[in-house]
Amino acid sequence: MSAKKILTSQKNRKCKHPDCKRILSIYNHEVNCHVHLNQMSGKVSEAVLAKIR
Ligand SMILES: [Zn+2]
Repeated sequence: MSAKKILTSQKNRKCKHPDCKRILSIYNHEVNCHVHLNQMSGKVSEAVLAKIR
């Protein structure tokens, strides 16, 4: 019985947002942390705002 291998990204990657110093999870394959993921164009999506409220 072999363990299922999970695809992970490199360790210690930082969020691409200039003011953000978060270290990205190895399970996050994006260039931004979960906070800035939806702010790529400086616009917060309605879905994110709905969650915050
Ligand atoms: Zn960030």
